[in-house]
Amino acid sequence: MKRTTGRVWLAVAGLVLAIGAPNRSPAAERPNFVVIFCDDLGYGDLGCYGHPTIRTPHLDQMAAEGQKWTSFYCGAPVCTPSRAALLTGRVPVRSGMMSDRRRVLFPDSKGGLPAEEVTIAELLKGAGYATAAIGKWHLGHLPPYLPTAHGFDYYYGIPYSNDMDARKGFPNYRQRALMDPHYMAPFQQFNVPLLDGTSIIERPVDQRTITRRYVARAIDFIRKHRHQPFFVYLAHNMPHIPLFASKQFFGRSKRGLYGDAVEEIDAGVGAILQTLQELGLAEQTLVVFTSDNGPWLPFGTHGGSAGLLRNGKGTTYEGGMRVPGIFWWPGHVRPGIQTGMGSVLDLLPTFCSLAGVPLPKDRVLDGYDLSPVLLGKMDKSPRDRVFYWRQEELYAVRVGAWKAHFITQGSYGIGPRREVHEIPELYNVEVDPGENFDVAPRHPDIVRRLTRVAEEHKASIKPVPNQLER
Ligand code: MG
Repeated sequence: MKRTTGRVWLAVAGLVLAIGAPNRSPAAERPNFVVIFCDDLGYGDLGCYGHPTIRTPHLDQMAAEGQKWTSFYCGAPVCTPSRAALLTGRVPVRSGMMSDRRRVLFPDSKGGLPAEEVTIAELLKGAGYATAAIGKWHLGHLPPYLPTAHGFDYYYGIPYSNDMDARKGFPNYRQRALMDPHYMAPFQQFNVPLLDGTSIIERPVDQRTITRRYVARAIDFIRKHRHQPFFVYLAHNMPHIPLFASKQFFGRSKRGLYGDAVEEIDAGVGAILQTLQELGLAEQTLVVFTSDNGPWLPFGTHGGSAGLLRNGKGTTYEGGMRVPGIFWWPGHVRPGIQTGMGSVLDLLPTFCSLAGVPLPKDRVLDGYDLSPVLLGKMDKSPRDRVFYWRQEELYAVRVGAWKAHFITQGSYGIGPRREVHEIPELYNVEVDPGENFDVAPRHPDIVRRLTRVAEEHKASIKPVPNQLER
């Protein structure tokens, strides 16, 4: 008996030696994950999504080598709820991270992402991943809500939006921005803090160098943890206003400071992918690039573009919630263009599936496992519907090609006033992605079906305390 046990142990030891690094199981089973998340980057702001003057060679290459999704959605049309959606895989109304009175968290907010919520970082950390959040957080800046309380080993970044903590005595940013596409505000105007872990290390942050510093931290973390699986959530503050670019990028693009900021992000993507290749980790790392919501249109050329889509940030039109979505994992992700639907809500179940981590069973999740599509085992996305929440109301639903608007409303003074539709507006967003032609009168059966889907979804929401109004 004893001898058998000894032999088993010898076999195990031999296996460990054969594999090499003891912490690292075979690559395809436990890939690393890097999410590069932009702030207010529009659907039309990258070369590979049709922008004529912003040059994004690294993202274009990433898209060519990976999968470019053309119907990829964020979880809400503004920052805070969108981030809650990505990290929890749940529509943000389930976690209380949406509000009609306060659309996002502010420096005087007392709330944040509740401890009961389970984040991607917590799930992966439990499976032995090293986890880092770098960049904008915006899910609560008080200690119980910071990344380090939500499954991240490491945090470095600005805990909310880069236009907050505005100081008096400076020129009106928006007025100046509307007059000059190249206007860069003095960074001292926005007294935002930079956190390392839970401590403030700089205030106001010199935002001119923030993009490159975030990228440097991400690369540093990847190098340090290359022998174990890792998850890096890199959430850039750019290109949210006020826009900044470092000396190397300022004035470089043909698209003003907005283009400079996007081109700097693109260079950072290139540096990260190159690091993964140098370390021999490219074939063990799934990299995802996307944005938290559509472009902030009232800032003129300092805001981005939704391309052919309607309206922008803050709205439930396509321009508010459809964003770039690029997946890259050489040797694993099948290169191509995917026109089926995907969402940031799907990252949690997709990552868990690829890492072999069981999903939490005690809660409703709103995501789908996209891995069969990414790996080329399936052509059709398992996601057949998208729910468009604006604050605490469901404004629209998309099922297949069809999108019904129950409520329509512009945002920040752009677009129509709020209207509740007795008969919803109906668009075929495959043939009419710009939502120009309401075809509801011709398709009462489709309107009825989508209304039923919306009602069922709303019935699954349980009331929880509102975190944004605290
Ligand atoms: Mg945003």
